[in-house]
Amino acid sequence: MLRQAMLAVSKSRRAERVISTSPLTRDVVRRYVADDIAAVVAELTRRGLLVTVDHLGEEVTDHEQAEAAVSAYLTLLGLLPAGADVSVKLTALGLRLSQRLATEHAATICRAAEGRGVTVTLDAEEHDTIRGLHAVHAALRREHPGVGVVVQAYLPDSLERCEKLDGARVRLCKGAYTAPGAYTAPADIDRSFVRCLKVLMAGTGHPMVATHDPRLLRIAATLAVLDGRDAGGFEYQMLYGVRPEEQARLAGLGAQVRVYVPYGDDWYAYLMRRLAERPRNLTFFLRSLVSRH
Ligand code: FAD
Repeated sequence: MLRQAMLAVSKSRRAERVISTSPLTRDVVRRYVADDIAAVVAELTRRGLLVTVDHLGEEVTDHEQAEAAVSAYLTLLGLLPAGADVSVKLTALGLRLSQRLATEHAATICRAAEGRGVTVTLDAEEHDTIRGLHAVHAALRREHPGVGVVVQAYLPDSLERCEKLDGARVRLCKGAYTAPGAYTAPADIDRSFVRCLKVLMAGTGHPMVATHDPRLLRIAATLAVLDGRDAGGFEYQMLYGVRPEEQARLAGLGAQVRVYVPYGDDWYAYLMRRLAERPRNLTFFLRSLVSRH
């Protein structure tokens, strides 16, 4: 219930105005969103972590905004070291305006990224964009075989999706939105995650295991051994600000750990999804608002 309510708040323009203009929100934002992206990337790299950087923004409503998002990514690419990844939301590139437009914009980013030794991963968003996401991904893969895509385990067709994506870079996550027909019980989502993980680990692509869940992390490690994947054959991915000690521990064991680092002013919807994932964070957030008034 609380999660649903928070996800509704994440789409409310009125709540966005109130929350994002409050100076008291800053501490919570700083925990999850990089303020100086170059400095954060340099620090994570120094600590032996890989990065995927998300220029925050989604749901553009006109062509100029979509072009501005592409420019932001081209500028970002100039700041990233080889081996980095960028995470791209197709709705920020105009997917809801036209699939062709989003494909062209994403191809521009892929070309620029390749020139710098950086990979591109397409994030998965609301359920009504998933068909478009995979159509764009398939089109891009013909010229850019390294382009990755996200599969959300809460969708019942995620297993079939993983099978079809054999050979690709696939980030598997639980899913941060809501969708009709999606699994909602944590046990069902976890079971689906494991079924997908088995297919990805046994396949020929590059699995990217995006979770902070201790049990799923252990299962991923075991499957990697059983399937004969060495540390370079898959990676863990976690969000900036979430379980940083676990990120360091896994990297210390020699695993590839990539941190998803969002940056930019358009942080509202992202932050609300993070608060929805963990009621304890929400309590912390509300308490900080109340106690400083
Ligand atoms: P949970 O069951 O939510 O959490 C397990 C444990 O992790 C919790 O007990 C807690 O200890 C810790 N934890 C989890 N979340 C938080 C938090 N916010 N703050 C503090 N501790 C926390 N979703 C999409 O729909 N599309 C995407 O493209 C996408 N990309 C992602 C990329 C990465 C690298 C990651 C890590 C997640 C991504 N997600 C995406 C979000 C994902 O779907 C989940 O909503 C999110 O990761 C929480 O699920 P979990 O697997 O960590 O498990």
